[in-house]
Amino acid sequence: DAVIKLHNIEKHYKMGEQTFKALDGVNIEIEANDYVAIIGPSGSGKSTLMNLIGCLDIPTSGEYFLKNKLVESMTETELAHQRNESVGFIFQSFNLLPRATALENVMQPLVYRFIPAKERKLKALEALKRVGLADKVNHLSNQLSGGQRQRVAIARALVTKPHILLGDEPTGNLDSKTTQEIMALFDELHQEGHTIILVTHEQEIADHCQRVIRLVDGQVVADTRNHHGEKLN
Ligand code: ADP
Ligand code: ADP
Repeated sequence: DAVIKLHNIEKHYKMGEQTFKALDGVNIEIEANDYVAIIGPSGSGKSTLMNLIGCLDIPTSGEYFLKNKLVESMTETELAHQRNESVGFIFQSFNLLPRATALENVMQPLVYRFIPAKERKLKALEALKRVGLADKVNHLSNQLSGGQRQRVAIARALVTKPHILLGDEPTGNLDSKTTQEIMALFDELHQEGHTIILVTHEQEIADHCQRVIRLVDGQVVADTRNHHGEKLN
């Protein structure tokens, strides 16, 4: 069964007198453990779509079912809960606290929960170990390389154990060798059962995913499966 169902989704922004349709009749279903690239020109609605999928925003109209629950009918508390429990966000520019350590950054999503400090630390250490940074936990994030920073950000996304990982240009600031390492990590997370959705400008990364959804002017113009999948080069 699909973990994400978007039915006839519209997202409109008011620009003075005019209404701008950032998403215009989008229908997408994403199965558990799918590995999806979202591509399209700048301004085609990719970030808007990711924000909706990640429950950071709600559509103007249409229906969004996340794990069979209608997102538009959720209370603010439920939405916050879904944002925390169901999805993990990874950004192009990492969005880490620069003067906090890797460990402090990864513990951050747990701070507003009723989890004892000791347990928060254990969970964060486990997530950092998972991304191969066990030896960097006390480094400040601004002392780490780009690839290491993105690993910290992935650990931060993983620490609440979400099923779905959403990456908005997660390799956009990385060189090609580091991009391959980060994609290898996404592959492992996919093999472990995560559903992965990545916005990308890079054809190489789209080719690497198992499914490619192309947006133009807020509409899905192509939705195709790659037969090879999971190969970079
Ligand atoms: P992409 O990620 O594909 O570059 P976006 O989803 O960021 O596209 O934006 C799609 C369109 O919606 C763009 O024209 C953008 O300027 C507009 N847009 C996005 N967010 C807002 C907003 N909060 N208010 C007004 N317009 C917006
Ligand atoms: P990205 O690097 O993902 O393309 P953008 O610069 O498109 O990021 O957008 C960053 C944020 O600003 C997004 O949350 C988007 O919704 C919002 N945004 C984009 N365009 C506009 C706009 N014209 N007016 C207001 N907010 C916007």
